[in-house]
Amino acid sequence: MPLKVPCPTCNKDVLWQPENTFRPFCSKRCQLIDLGEWADEGHKISQPIQGATQVTEEMLDALEDEFLQHNKFFVEPE
Ligand SMILES: [Zn+2]
Repeated sequence: MPLKVPCPTCNKDVLWQPENTFRPFCSKRCQLIDLGEWADEGHKISQPIQGATQVTEEMLDALEDEFLQHNKFFVEPE
């Protein structure tokens, strides 16, 4: 009786056997989805690091403008 494992992507039962080249995934599609998620995560991790080195005066000004727009009381003293 072959071992069954849940597909990490869709949780479908996958037979653990040499014929299944995509194990532990049920299909190539699920394998690619999983790889894609890994790639996405890597992308997300590299984003803030990239952003942090590119904080410019312009960006700070834009952030300040946005902050003031959302805090009208701050620029309208009584
Ligand atoms: Zn699957």
